Amino acid sequence: MFSPVTLLVVAIMSSVMSMAVFGSLLHAGIPGLPRWIGANAVIAVALVLLALQAPAPAQVGIVVASALLGAAALMMLQGCREFFGLRPSRSLEYVAYGALLLGIVYWGYISPNANARIALLSAFLAYVRLVIGWIAFRLRPPGRPKYCYQFMSGAAFLGAAVHASRSIACVVGWEHQAAFLEPTPLNIAFLGLGILALPCLSIGVVMLAHDRMAERMERLANVDGLTGALVRRAFLVRAESLLHEARNSKWRLSIAILDLDKFKAINDEHGHAGGDQVLAHFAFTISSGLRSGDIFGRLGGEEFAVLSLSTGQADTVRLMDQLRIRVAASRLTIPTGEVAYTFSAGVDEYCEGDTLANMMGRADAALYAAKAMGRNCVVGTLLSGSQRVEDAQGESTTEQISGPA
Ligand code: GH3
Ligand code: MG
Ligand code: MG
Repeated sequence: MFSPVTLLVVAIMSSVMSMAVFGSLLHAGIPGLPRWIGANAVIAVALVLLALQAPAPAQVGIVVASALLGAAALMMLQGCREFFGLRPSRSLEYVAYGALLLGIVYWGYISPNANARIALLSAFLAYVRLVIGWIAFRLRPPGRPKYCYQFMSGAAFLGAAVHASRSIACVVGWEHQAAFLEPTPLNIAFLGLGILALPCLSIGVVMLAHDRMAERMERLANVDGLTGALVRRAFLVRAESLLHEARNSKWRLSIAILDLDKFKAINDEHGHAGGDQVLAHFAFTISSGLRSGDIFGRLGGEEFAVLSLSTGQADTVRLMDQLRIRVAASRLTIPTGEVAYTFSAGVDEYCEGDTLANMMGRADAALYAAKAMGRNCVVGTLLSGSQRVEDAQGESTTEQISGPA
């Protein structure tokens, strides 16, 4: 039942199935996937050649199959690098592959030695699996679930361990073969484990491809395409969770609501497309001035919000004012001419028992006050102690913390 040829037939079927599954994902344009399909096609051809040659020693088919298995491994590695946004090929690896070909031909025809050939090929396959495992382990995109990346690296490391053990077994003489497919127990065990690692790798690739697609969908749902800021719903969800953290940890939490000044006039003068460019420029300027933990969202139209954990109101007002000065000093050149623009902001800080709606209401009231004060300024709600700005409907008592000279 576990004859080498039976194992090879199982592996051929598994490669064909992998190609079919990868093919179903091709339309998604996942980087590296075409190389994985190619690699599985080459593996299937190599395994057919091997199955047909067994048990004859070192015939053309076996030599060609070994060369193909090395090439397929290289294609897999390049596909993996492409997936993770790395340069797919490395010249040293082509040199190593060339050396592998020379070794296969030498120990295939000139001085036939199945053991040496297997040791060399297994060492090459072990190297490739090891690098694939390391890349998947190290390069998980931040914030993505760990499971599929760990599965992929686990499958690759398992493959690397099997091929490395086989190579070592051949070198130290535990495994002595006159032919590649001799049905010794050790050979069957190595073939079986090596063949099991192959579909595991394919499952890992499918998991990675699905994670990439999920990441794209989440991005489309949560990030505003024009400005790169979180959309309102996603901002509110993250803001609620930060508020929860602030409540539990007693950390400070500040919110700023930002609104572009006289934006309607910019649209009127430069057209909607020009207005869009201003929005994108504004969002880039603000987001590049924030700390990595701050949350930046587009509440709607030309209104944005920033939430900062472990930051008091005074610091947030200071930061917003620096950004206000930077934006006011910037000149954006668009096809309809040069645009200068400003924004106003209202800032509030979390107090015990607050809800997000309370905080946003007060920050909004401070923003209205900033507009009333002539725009291009930042207003905070805290006057002293617990004295605060009422919400937009109430009597507003605000303090202009900063504004244009
Ligand atoms: P204020 O200083 O009081 O905030 O004045 P404003 O003109 O900025 O405010 P108003 O609310 O009157 O106008 C906001 C404008 O923003 C109106 C709307 O057409 C425009 N707007 C909203 N969303 C977009 C967008 O995605 N792109 C462009 N170009 N304009 C937008
Ligand atoms: Mg406005
Ligand atoms: Mg507005």
